[in-house]
Amino acid sequence: MANLTGKIAVVTGGSRGIGAAIAKGLGREGATVIINYNHSHEKAQAVVEEIKTMGGSAIALQADISEAEATKVFIEKVLGDFGKIDILVNNAGITRDKTFKKMSFEEWHKVIDTNLSSAFNTCKIALPSMLEQKYGRIINISSVIGQSGGFGQANYAAAKAGLIGFSKSLALETARGGVTVNCICPGYIATEMVNAMPENVKEAIIAQVPMKKLGAPEEISKGVLFICESEYMTGQCLNLNGGIYML
Ligand code: NDP
Repeated sequence: MANLTGKIAVVTGGSRGIGAAIAKGLGREGATVIINYNHSHEKAQAVVEEIKTMGGSAIALQADISEAEATKVFIEKVLGDFGKIDILVNNAGITRDKTFKKMSFEEWHKVIDTNLSSAFNTCKIALPSMLEQKYGRIINISSVIGQSGGFGQANYAAAKAGLIGFSKSLALETARGGVTVNCICPGYIATEMVNAMPENVKEAIIAQVPMKKLGAPEEISKGVLFICESEYMTGQCLNLNGGIYML
């Protein structure tokens, strides 16, 4: 699909779900993949082993990307050890769903820091080297909820909508420098994040999806590979959502 031999790719939150699928997709296409995780060391290591079994190259690195200083140490280590970052996938994310009335300040800030500020934290350190080498692919995993809003998701929707605005702005600033910045907006994808929802909520969601099914994490991985290959796409959202929200 895309020949990524020689490319260095960082995937935040690559230990599980969509991030793990993205990491494997990039590894399969020849990129050396740095799999970031926060708590799931064994799962991240399992993704590394899977990529190695496919003949690829990968390592796992722990960092809480909601923390600016920890992210700086993480990205600087990658730049120090590998010399460059070609592909940066800001995928790590969490939900803390509550209606606005019940949502605490802590739940607001935790979701904003993990889903939105994290992308600022990684890009702040990785972008200068991308601009220097006149090549970079920054892919931010937003969500259909950032486009449509979501009941009980004021924090998550704000973070994901913020990622879209962040990406468009950064895309304008980097367009002449060989760096593209795009979002993927997944609909409902079958991962632990969605499986954690009560069964009746999940059934109601599937009923609303025109395709009447959840998406597979591999669909998002295919989107990442498409963006990696594209020379002329920047500041865009790739909507992979089974038709649940049509822009
Ligand atoms: P999962 O809950 O399955 O996985 C989340 C990943 O993010 C894990 O690898 C986790 O690492 C990592 N992570 C969370 N917090 C941090 C942190 N502070 N620092 C580093 N890593 C962290 O989520 P999904 O795979 O479902 O979602 C991936 C992305 O896709 C998220 O941004 C999510 O918002 C988005 N998305 C998901 C949809 C879905 O339907 N699943 C729909 C639309 C968007 P660890 O295991 O180590 O904690």
